[in-house]
Amino acid sequence: MDQIKIGKFIAECRKKANLTQMQLAEKLNITDRAVSKWETGKAMPDSAIMLELCDVLKINANDLLCGEVVTMDNYNKELENNLLEMIKQKEQADKRLLRTEIVMGICCILPLIASLIIVLTVPMEEWLGSVIVGASVVPLLIATPFALKIEQKAGYYECQKCGHRHIPKYSSVFCSMHINRTRYMRCPKCGKISWQKKVLSKEKKF
Ligand SMILES: [Zn+2]
Repeated sequence: MDQIKIGKFIAECRKKANLTQMQLAEKLNITDRAVSKWETGKAMPDSAIMLELCDVLKINANDLLCGEVVTMDNYNKELENNLLEMIKQKEQADKRLLRTEIVMGICCILPLIASLIIVLTVPMEEWLGSVIVGASVVPLLIATPFALKIEQKAGYYECQKCGHRHIPKYSSVFCSMHINRTRYMRCPKCGKISWQKKVLSKEKKF
Protein backbone atom coordinates (compact mmCIF):
# COMPACT_ATOMS: atom_id res chain seq x y z
CA MET A 1 0.00 0.00 0.00
CA ASP A 2 1.27 3.43 -0.93
CA GLN A 3 0.73 5.70 2.07
CA ILE A 4 1.69 8.88 0.23
CA LYS A 5 -0.83 8.16 -2.52
CA ILE A 6 -3.50 7.28 0.03
CA GLY A 7 -2.75 10.51 1.89
CA LYS A 8 -3.13 12.61 -1.24
CA PHE A 9 -6.37 10.81 -2.04
CA ILE A 10 -7.77 11.50 1.43
CA ALA A 11 -6.91 15.20 1.05
CA GLU A 12 -8.51 15.28 -2.39
CA CYS A 13 -11.73 13.63 -1.17
CA ARG A 14 -11.84 15.88 1.89
CA LYS A 15 -11.63 19.00 -0.29
CA LYS A 16 -14.29 17.58 -2.62
CA ALA A 17 -16.53 17.17 0.45
CA ASN A 18 -15.84 20.84 1.30
CA LEU A 19 -14.27 20.07 4.65
CA THR A 20 -11.21 21.52 6.36
CA GLN A 21 -8.85 19.16 8.21
CA MET A 22 -10.34 20.51 11.42
CA GLN A 23 -13.93 19.86 10.31
CA LEU A 24 -13.10 16.33 9.22
CA ALA A 25 -11.32 15.72 12.52
CA GLU A 26 -14.34 16.96 14.45
CA LYS A 27 -16.68 14.66 12.55
CA LEU A 28 -14.47 11.69 13.44
CA ASN A 29 -13.78 12.78 17.01
CA ILE A 30 -10.03 12.89 16.48
CA THR A 31 -7.40 15.64 16.34
CA ASP A 32 -6.66 17.60 13.16
CA ARG A 33 -3.04 16.50 13.64
CA ALA A 34 -4.11 12.93 12.96
CA VAL A 35 -5.80 14.02 9.72
CA SER A 36 -2.69 15.93 8.73
CA LYS A 37 -0.55 12.84 9.39
CA TRP A 38 -2.75 10.75 7.08
CA GLU A 39 -2.69 13.34 4.33
CA THR A 40 1.08 13.66 4.40
CA GLY A 41 1.44 9.88 4.30
CA LYS A 42 3.01 9.68 7.75
CA ALA A 43 0.29 7.44 9.16
CA MET A 44 -2.63 5.31 8.04
CA PRO A 45 -6.13 5.73 9.45
CA ASP A 46 -6.74 3.23 12.19
CA SER A 47 -8.87 0.29 11.07
CA ALA A 48 -11.40 1.23 13.76
CA ILE A 49 -12.01 4.62 12.17
CA MET A 50 -11.55 3.66 8.51
CA LEU A 51 -15.20 2.91 7.71
CA GLU A 52 -16.42 6.09 9.36
CA LEU A 53 -13.84 8.08 7.40
CA CYS A 54 -14.95 6.44 4.14
CA ASP A 55 -18.54 7.26 5.00
CA VAL A 56 -17.74 10.95 5.47
CA LEU A 57 -15.62 11.08 2.30
CA LYS A 58 -18.24 9.08 0.33
CA ILE A 59 -15.76 6.44 -0.84
CA ASN A 60 -15.39 2.79 0.10
CA ALA A 61 -12.59 1.17 2.08
CA ASN A 62 -11.15 -0.40 -1.03
CA ASP A 63 -10.83 2.99 -2.75
CA LEU A 64 -9.18 4.35 0.37
CA LEU A 65 -6.61 1.55 0.53
CA CYS A 66 -5.84 1.90 -3.18
CA GLY A 67 -5.59 5.68 -2.96
CA GLU A 68 -8.01 6.08 -5.87
CA VAL A 69 -11.54 5.29 -6.94
CA VAL A 70 -11.36 1.69 -8.13
CA THR A 71 -13.25 0.79 -11.28
CA MET A 72 -15.58 -2.19 -11.25
CA ASP A 73 -13.31 -4.16 -13.62
CA ASN A 74 -10.44 -4.69 -11.22
CA TYR A 75 -12.44 -4.18 -8.05
CA ASN A 76 -12.22 -7.75 -6.76
CA LYS A 77 -8.56 -8.10 -7.59
CA GLU A 78 -7.71 -4.88 -5.76
CA LEU A 79 -9.90 -5.83 -2.83
CA GLU A 80 -8.08 -9.12 -2.48
CA ASN A 81 -4.66 -7.48 -2.71
CA ASN A 82 -5.58 -4.92 -0.09
CA LEU A 83 -6.94 -7.50 2.32
CA LEU A 84 -3.85 -9.66 1.95
CA GLU A 85 -1.64 -6.63 2.42
CA MET A 86 -3.46 -5.65 5.60
CA ILE A 87 -3.13 -9.16 6.99
CA LYS A 88 0.56 -9.15 6.14
CA GLN A 89 1.08 -5.81 7.83
CA LYS A 90 -0.68 -6.97 10.98
CA GLU A 91 1.47 -10.09 11.07
CA GLN A 92 4.64 -8.08 10.64
CA ALA A 93 3.59 -5.69 13.39
CA ASP A 94 2.85 -8.65 15.65
CA LYS A 95 6.22 -10.15 14.86
CA ARG A 96 7.90 -6.89 15.82
CA LEU A 97 5.92 -6.82 19.08
CA LEU A 98 6.96 -10.34 19.98
CA ARG A 99 10.59 -9.47 19.22
CA THR A 100 10.24 -6.44 21.51
CA GLU A 101 9.06 -8.80 24.21
CA ILE A 102 12.21 -10.89 23.89
CA VAL A 103 14.41 -7.78 24.10
CA MET A 104 12.45 -6.63 27.16
CA GLY A 105 12.98 -10.04 28.73
CA ILE A 106 16.72 -9.94 28.14
CA CYS A 107 16.96 -6.38 29.51
CA CYS A 108 15.18 -7.51 32.66
CA ILE A 109 17.05 -10.73 33.26
CA LEU A 110 20.59 -9.45 32.63
CA PRO A 111 20.65 -7.06 35.64
CA LEU A 112 19.22 -9.84 37.77
CA ILE A 113 22.00 -12.24 36.78
CA ALA A 114 24.63 -9.51 37.15
CA SER A 115 23.44 -8.60 40.63
CA LEU A 116 23.41 -12.25 41.71
CA ILE A 117 26.98 -12.69 40.48
CA ILE A 118 28.07 -9.53 42.32
CA VAL A 119 26.35 -10.53 45.55
CA LEU A 120 27.75 -14.06 45.44
CA THR A 121 31.32 -13.10 44.54
CA VAL A 122 31.97 -9.72 46.19
CA PRO A 123 32.11 -9.82 50.00
CA MET A 124 29.57 -7.36 51.45
CA GLU A 125 27.06 -6.89 54.24
CA GLU A 126 23.96 -9.02 53.96
CA TRP A 127 21.57 -6.04 53.87
CA LEU A 128 23.47 -4.51 50.97
CA GLY A 129 23.25 -7.77 49.04
CA SER A 130 19.49 -7.87 49.60
CA VAL A 131 19.11 -4.29 48.40
CA ILE A 132 21.10 -5.00 45.22
CA VAL A 133 19.13 -8.13 44.37
CA GLY A 134 15.86 -6.42 45.31
CA ALA A 135 16.59 -3.46 43.04
CA SER A 136 17.49 -5.71 40.13
CA VAL A 137 14.08 -7.39 40.31
CA VAL A 138 12.25 -4.07 39.84
CA PRO A 139 12.56 -3.87 36.00
CA LEU A 140 11.22 -7.40 35.76
CA LEU A 141 8.20 -6.50 37.91
CA ILE A 142 7.54 -3.39 35.84
CA ALA A 143 7.98 -5.10 32.47
CA THR A 144 5.99 -8.27 33.13
CA PRO A 145 2.49 -6.75 32.69
CA PHE A 146 3.59 -5.15 29.40
CA ALA A 147 5.14 -8.38 28.17
CA LEU A 148 1.94 -10.26 29.00
CA LYS A 149 -0.13 -7.63 27.20
CA ILE A 150 2.04 -8.09 24.11
CA GLU A 151 1.66 -11.85 24.32
CA GLN A 152 -2.09 -11.53 24.61
CA LYS A 153 -2.52 -9.05 21.73
CA ALA A 154 0.08 -10.11 19.17
CA GLY A 155 -1.00 -13.02 17.00
CA TYR A 156 -3.27 -15.80 18.22
CA TYR A 157 -3.24 -18.91 20.37
CA GLU A 158 -4.09 -22.23 18.77
CA CYS A 159 -6.09 -24.85 20.66
CA GLN A 160 -4.40 -28.26 20.41
CA LYS A 161 -7.75 -30.06 20.62
CA CYS A 162 -9.82 -28.39 17.91
CA GLY A 163 -7.33 -26.12 16.14
CA HIS A 164 -9.37 -22.98 16.89
CA ARG A 165 -7.26 -19.80 16.87
CA HIS A 166 -8.19 -16.98 19.22
CA ILE A 167 -7.02 -13.96 21.22
CA PRO A 168 -7.41 -14.89 24.87
CA LYS A 169 -8.47 -12.57 27.71
CA TYR A 170 -5.65 -10.81 29.56
CA SER A 171 -6.67 -12.60 32.73
CA SER A 172 -6.30 -16.06 31.17
CA VAL A 173 -2.85 -15.16 29.84
CA PHE A 174 -1.92 -13.76 33.24
CA CYS A 175 -3.09 -16.80 35.19
CA SER A 176 -2.02 -19.62 32.89
CA MET A 177 1.01 -21.87 33.26
CA HIS A 178 3.41 -21.44 30.39
CA ILE A 179 6.58 -22.75 28.78
CA ASN A 180 7.99 -19.85 26.79
CA ARG A 181 4.96 -18.67 24.81
CA THR A 182 3.03 -21.92 24.87
CA ARG A 183 0.28 -21.56 27.44
CA TYR A 184 -1.95 -24.02 29.23
CA MET A 185 -5.38 -22.48 28.65
CA ARG A 186 -9.02 -23.31 28.08
CA CYS A 187 -10.24 -23.01 24.48
CA PRO A 188 -13.20 -20.63 24.14
CA LYS A 189 -14.62 -22.76 21.33
CA CYS A 190 -14.41 -26.41 22.44
CA GLY A 191 -13.92 -25.67 26.16
CA LYS A 192 -11.05 -28.13 26.49
CA ILE A 193 -7.77 -27.28 28.21
CA SER A 194 -4.56 -27.80 26.28
CA TRP A 195 -1.07 -26.40 25.69
CA GLN A 196 -1.84 -23.65 23.20
CA LYS A 197 0.86 -22.46 20.85
CA LYS A 198 1.39 -18.87 19.74
CA VAL A 199 0.71 -18.44 16.02
CA LEU A 200 0.86 -15.27 13.93
CA SER A 201 -2.08 -15.67 11.59
CA LYS A 202 -5.75 -16.28 12.22
CA GLU A 203 -6.09 -18.72 9.32
CA LYS A 204 -4.08 -21.89 8.89
CA LYS A 205 -3.34 -21.51 5.19
CA PHE A 206 -0.88 -18.64 5.67
ZN1 LIG B 1 -10.55 -26.00 21.09
